[in-house]
Amino acid sequence: MLKREFTEDQTLFRDAYRKFLQQEITPHMEQWREQGIVGREAFLKAGAQGFLMIWPEEEYGGLGEDDFRFEQIIIEENQYALTADWNCTLHSRLVGPYLKRFASEEQKQRLLPKCVTGETILGIAMTEPDAGSDLAGMRATAIDQGDHYLLNGNKTYISNGINADVLIVAAKTDPENNPRYIGLFIVERNFEGFSRGAMLKKMGQKGQDTAELFFQNVKVPKANVLGDPSKGLPYLMEGLAEERLIAAVECLAAAQKAFDITLDFTKERKLFKKTLGNFQNTQFKLSDLRAELDMQQVYVDQCVKALASDALTAVDAAKAKLLTSELLCRVVDEGVQLHGGAGYMDEYPICRMYTDARVTRIYAGTSEVMKLIVGRDLYQGDAVAFIDRDLA
Ligand SMILES: Cc1cc2nc3c(=O)[nH]c(=O)nc-3n(C[C@H](O)[C@H](O)[C@H](O)COP(=O)(O)OP(=O)(O)OC[C@H]3O[C@@H](n4cnc5c(N)ncnc54)[C@H](O)[C@@H]3O)c2cc1C
Repeated sequence: MLKREFTEDQTLFRDAYRKFLQQEITPHMEQWREQGIVGREAFLKAGAQGFLMIWPEEEYGGLGEDDFRFEQIIIEENQYALTADWNCTLHSRLVGPYLKRFASEEQKQRLLPKCVTGETILGIAMTEPDAGSDLAGMRATAIDQGDHYLLNGNKTYISNGINADVLIVAAKTDPENNPRYIGLFIVERNFEGFSRGAMLKKMGQKGQDTAELFFQNVKVPKANVLGDPSKGLPYLMEGLAEERLIAAVECLAAAQKAFDITLDFTKERKLFKKTLGNFQNTQFKLSDLRAELDMQQVYVDQCVKALASDALTAVDAAKAKLLTSELLCRVVDEGVQLHGGAGYMDEYPICRMYTDARVTRIYAGTSEVMKLIVGRDLYQGDAVAFIDRDLA
């Protein structure tokens, strides 16, 4: 692979985070997987060591380190250590930035310090049983009642759905006259009328809690409205390039890990008096994958650089998300195949990686939606491509 460039600080950060995973996360993974949820204390430990939400300025308790390269390191290490269900990036860099971009000063002071320490865990709730890709089709409403908004509706497939103390919930604020007016509301754990369903049983990513959420006449104080309550859709669009890049980094790191596991296996496994790696079929398959992985790494690293200078477009990030997730699914599939029966056994990491991988072509925008974004860019220009969450 071409040499990847990291600063000395970033290399030290990677070493320290790797050590943190070995000490505080890996020993608990099996138990969390059985429970279907990561222990809350993990967030506190990550917060105490400065690995959770590092971007807020020091006045909010953070390190003021906004360079995505650091989060890329966290995402990669989580995959390399097989601790991906400990998905701290969802809290730190997927949901947290909504507070950075749209929260008032009062909201930042009230919420950010506890997000940095891990006392407050974040989630975001957009998807509904009948509204995923077609987000503008959501039914949840939040109606202005003077001193508060009255929130009603159901959300589903919400990551951190059980663990989250604070959720950013999307709902329509003028469903009759302006169905495209969507607001983002900060819903706290103890709000009356807010309840959660049981943890949803999933094909993979079994240590991560995913849940349904119910809102029945929940009074959301005006102090908990995020920005302009009619601009939720453009707000959601604004973060999409970074969200898709997070998914791409995650997919590519998982694919690298699945490849390494498989390569090692083929060097050890003996059959017909030679190792599996001696067969030309094995070498051809792994060579193809190795070449694709190396090429994609260059593109993804370039996207990370572009993000740092605000030059990453939603279209370029969509291309990265599309191809890395499709490649991951092929790598884990070939990985299982080369493992033979062992690949179907839960005790082999490739088995879990196979079931974990499948959702990456679905969440954070499906592969089909990614193709629509790229297609629209080809035929209609870049600007329209941002409106990908409510494609007709
Ligand atoms: C494990 C997991 C965690 C998740 N976490 C969260 C979370 O934290 N918060 C949250 O809000 N959501 C979350 N989601 C929801 C996720 O974002 C949605 O599942 C995803 O956007 C797809 O929406 P959908 O499930 O409604 O499928 P649909 O949108 O109904 O898609 C069904 C099929 O139709 C295709 N399709 C859709 N539109 C078009 C089109 N215009 N043209 C052609 N084909 C199309 C899709 O590609 C797909 O193949 C999570 C989902 C999962 C599985």
